[in-house]
Amino acid sequence: MSSDTAIVDDPFAIAQWQLDAVAEHLKLGDGMRRILRTPNRELTVTFPVIMDDGRTEVFTGHRVQHNVARGPAKGGIRYSPYVTLNEMRALSMWMTWKCAVVNLPFGGAKGGVCCNTKEMSLREIERLTRRYTTEIAFLIGPASDIPAPDMYTDSRVMAWMMDTYSMHKGYSVPGVVTGKPISVGGSLGRSEATGRGCVYAIVNVAKQVGINLDGATVAVQGFGNAGSVVVRLLAQLGCRIIAVSDSNGGIYDEHGLDAEALQACKRETGSVSNYSSGDRLSNEALLTLPCDILVPAALENQLTERLAPKVQSKLIAEAANGPTTPEADAIFQDRGVTVVPDILANAGGVTVSYFEWVQNLQEFHWKEEQVNQQLKDVMDASCGQVMALAEREHASLRTAAYILAVDRVVNAIQDRGIYP
Ligand code: NAD
Repeated sequence: MSSDTAIVDDPFAIAQWQLDAVAEHLKLGDGMRRILRTPNRELTVTFPVIMDDGRTEVFTGHRVQHNVARGPAKGGIRYSPYVTLNEMRALSMWMTWKCAVVNLPFGGAKGGVCCNTKEMSLREIERLTRRYTTEIAFLIGPASDIPAPDMYTDSRVMAWMMDTYSMHKGYSVPGVVTGKPISVGGSLGRSEATGRGCVYAIVNVAKQVGINLDGATVAVQGFGNAGSVVVRLLAQLGCRIIAVSDSNGGIYDEHGLDAEALQACKRETGSVSNYSSGDRLSNEALLTLPCDILVPAALENQLTERLAPKVQSKLIAEAANGPTTPEADAIFQDRGVTVVPDILANAGGVTVSYFEWVQNLQEFHWKEEQVNQQLKDVMDASCGQVMALAEREHASLRTAAYILAVDRVVNAIQDRGIYP
């Protein structure tokens, strides 16, 4: 694969390549491979939005449902200038595997609008959200397809989506989206669920590979929703956070950085790189620091073929989606570096989204302790299953997670049968 740059540049080609490898391992028949390689439904919408200056702008958005054999489609909505149909296809397929690996009764979906929210006012983003929701309204719903936040969408965007859908129905439908504000049916614990789930995964895998978390050194790339929670919770477990970074750069102190002070620094100055002590370092230097645990929690394709031989950590937990290229992944496997794959390591977010949806359907609120305990139960069980499978198959955790997930989806398709 390394020589095929067209594949590397195309996330959908990567997703299909990953699936093909697992299909080979599971000895899937040609028909099943073809079902899984292609999304079940794809909707592209082009729609106008009146901008604040009176101009009419036309935007293109998508909603792709990859597979719904195990339940309603689930997946985020992304607002970015780089949104393409192929990106949505890849992300929807990865959502199918992510939901399956933690055994949630959901299929996979993804949606997005090609736009630059940094150049838009709040009212323009609201009008875009309400029109996009209307355009995809016939696909989404609590029983069919449940969107959630993703890049450059947040709880406020989810509230607008929920409100727009509810206005069309004539009554409130909180279960149509997750990641909502608490005031309109959001779940306690949702905002920190991805980081918390990642830490539960690290606890499970560290024990297996013999890393004592008390005093273990940690570097975290990205100090946002996922990364900042990982830092805080790992510090509480006794880890020494030696480096963190954000888009402005990183900060390093071998004696350890204070998690609360980092949070305050980010809040007050906008970047952890302004931290009062330690040395500044680049994102690349952070990824290759000597440390026990490395957590990429920012962007995709950060750990590349070039950097992988220089990475010095024993354990990598992918809080971000797709931070490791397939070439780097092969190098880590050869070098005996354990990688907790994204579909497992960051599945805490969708797991608590599932709890939010369940609470909405029950018209009931769970306490935060209950949410966190159920999240821990899901992550412990899923990590245990993936680690056992990896040992049995002499495979990496990524391969094992994919085998477990794809096999669950295949079983659902086979048990349901092909209609008509
Ligand atoms: P976020 O926007 O809250 O934070 C992203 C962080 O990465 C920011 O601190 C930003 O400054 C930093 N960053 C950006 N470019 C960087 C660079 N070049 N080097 C270092 N840091 C950089 O986003 P998030 O919600 O924390 O998501 C981070 C990753 O986790 C993404 O890959 C996302 O898909 C994944 N993820 C998030 C969730 C969730 O519930 N938030 C769930 C699953 C997966």
